[in-house]
Amino acid sequence: MPRTIAVTGVASGLGRGVAERLEADGARVIGVDIADAEVTADLSTVEGRAAAVDAVLAACGGVLDGLVPCAGLGPQHAPERIIAVNYFGAIATLDGLEDALAAGSAPAVVMICSNSTTLTPGADGPIAAACLAGDETLAVQQAAGANPAVAYAASKIGIGRAVRRRAQPFGVRGIRINSVAPGPFNSRLLQEGLDDPATGDLIRSLPIPLGRFGEPSDIADVVAWLLGDGARYLQGTNVFVDGGIDAMLSPDRFP
Ligand code: NAD
Repeated sequence: MPRTIAVTGVASGLGRGVAERLEADGARVIGVDIADAEVTADLSTVEGRAAAVDAVLAACGGVLDGLVPCAGLGPQHAPERIIAVNYFGAIATLDGLEDALAAGSAPAVVMICSNSTTLTPGADGPIAAACLAGDETLAVQQAAGANPAVAYAASKIGIGRAVRRRAQPFGVRGIRINSVAPGPFNSRLLQEGLDDPATGDLIRSLPIPLGRFGEPSDIADVVAWLLGDGARYLQGTNVFVDGGIDAMLSPDRFP
């Protein structure tokens, strides 16, 4: 039986790379995006999230073996929309599909975090706290007027902690959940940052121990491994896939 795996943000970049890799491995991928996908839905709204969950449930018959909520907006977008898509869109998808995952075979989830979580001063504050409290109105209020880079990193801190908080309740239901924290990866999102005069030079000057930006296939290989049997004892953890940036900039942040 092929595994059935839902991937959001499937029309571009990392999500597309992940879906291509999973399909090459024989999985049935249910792709979700705002356009150009099997399931089209706007994950920035409550209605769009509910429609996405309903459509995925219909497509998988209520039984899902994997989930990768990859849809996201980078720091070139309005901070309110960043919070709505990156945190609340991803979490609504995750929680809306939890029962279907519990009915799946060796089910696993990989959430998409970011190495901006450890690179962005001021990100670990009230926006992330409001996200984790599930208060979208407050989170959006606090994001309004904030530096979009801070809102972006805050949304991803929320994702990383949401994963850790679900390690136990998902684990007892047989669902593994982990995250990856990509560094700069070639995609539309990165291109928007490179094209922005306020951030382009900063991104280009980032020191990367492995000497290059990531390609979607670099993250797809790690996500495929995290979804599979080789990662069967990983739960609630985060894997930096950033060419070594985080380790180089914070060599003593361990344990
Ligand atoms: P991308 O722009 O290439 O792809 C993002 C996808 O999300 C697009 O297909 C877009 O249509 C979809 N999307 C955006 N808003 C949506 C909405 N409201 N409803 C439904 N779909 C929506 O970007 P990417 O780099 O592939 O980003 C994928 C994920 O990886 C994001 O969560 C991003 O934060 C994360 N990430 C990317 C990088 C990087 O350097 N590229 C680094 C760290 C984390």
